Amino acid sequence: MMLVAERIPEVRDVIRRARAAGRTIGFVPTMGALHAGHLSLMHASRRECDFTAVSIFVNPTQFGPQEDLQRYPRPRDADLALCETASVDVVFFPAVEEMYPPGATTFVEVAGLSDVWEGAIRPGHFRGVSTVVAKLFQIVPADRAYFGQKDYQQQLILRRMVRDLNLPIEIVTCPIVRDADGMALSSRNAYLSPNERRAGLAISQALSEAGQAYNSGERQPRRLQRMLSDRLTGTRGLAVEYAVVVDPETLAELDEPQSSMVALIAARAGKTRLIDNAIFGESQS
Ligand code: AMP
Repeated sequence: MMLVAERIPEVRDVIRRARAAGRTIGFVPTMGALHAGHLSLMHASRRECDFTAVSIFVNPTQFGPQEDLQRYPRPRDADLALCETASVDVVFFPAVEEMYPPGATTFVEVAGLSDVWEGAIRPGHFRGVSTVVAKLFQIVPADRAYFGQKDYQQQLILRRMVRDLNLPIEIVTCPIVRDADGMALSSRNAYLSPNERRAGLAISQALSEAGQAYNSGERQPRRLQRMLSDRLTGTRGLAVEYAVVVDPETLAELDEPQSSMVALIAARAGKTRLIDNAIFGESQS
C-alpha cells in the first residue's frame, strides 16, 4: 500500500521504520505533473533500492517573480495514481507552509556553478533548488537520490552540494527520456501550442545533429557549438538563450576538444522556456 504523507514527522517516521527494517531507501524529488521522465527515476529507484520515496512539491523559492509558479500544473490525483502504478512506497506531498515556516531565512548556495547558464538567466533559481533539496534530504534521509540528466546543471550542482556539505546520500543521474519525435519530456511541454512544439523540436534535432557530427569524428567544440546555434537561430518561433559546448564539471566553454563535452541548450518557444542537453564522449556520472 502506498502511503501519502503531508507532514514532515509522518514521512520521517515511515523512513525511520524502513531503515530500522534494514531496507535501503531511494528518493525521487519532483515538482509533480509527472511524466515518463519522472517514472524512469522511480523505476531506477525501485530497481536499486528496497524502498522508494517520491516527493511532490512545487518549490516557490526556485521560481523568479516573473516566472510560472502560479500556472505550474498540479494534477494531484493523476500524479498519485502514477506513483501507485510505479509501486512507490511513500509520497511526501507537503504544503508550502510545511516546508517554509514563516521567518525561514536559511539558504544553501553552491557558488559559481549556480551563477552560469540557467543560473544567469534565472537569478536565485539554483539557490532555491539547492535549499529545498538539502531540506528534503533531511526530511527523507535516503541512501540514494535520483535526478534526471535533463536538468544537467541541476544534477551537477546537487552533486557538488552533497560533496561540499558531506551529506550522506548518493546522487544518481538517469538518462533523458524523450518523446518519439525526440523532444525531451518536460512538465512545461503542456504549455506549448502545436506551432511552438514544432519550433521546440529544433532543440533536440540540433543536439542529435551535433551528436552525429561528433560520432563521425568532429571533435572541435567551437564547430559543434556553431552547428547548434546555426540550427537553432534558423528556426522560426524559437528564441535561443544559450547553445554552448562546455566542460562537464566546470561548465566553462571549451576551446579545445576533450574526452567528455556537454552541449547545453536553452530556448524559448513563445513564453515557454525549454532546456535540453547531450553528452559527447565519456559520461561522467
Ligand atoms: P521536475 O519535476 O521538473 O522538478 O523534475 C524532477 C526530476 O525529474 C528532476 O531530476 C528532473 O531532471 C527529472 N526529469 C524531468 N524531465 C526528465 C526527462 N525528460 N528525462 C529524465 N528525467 C527527467
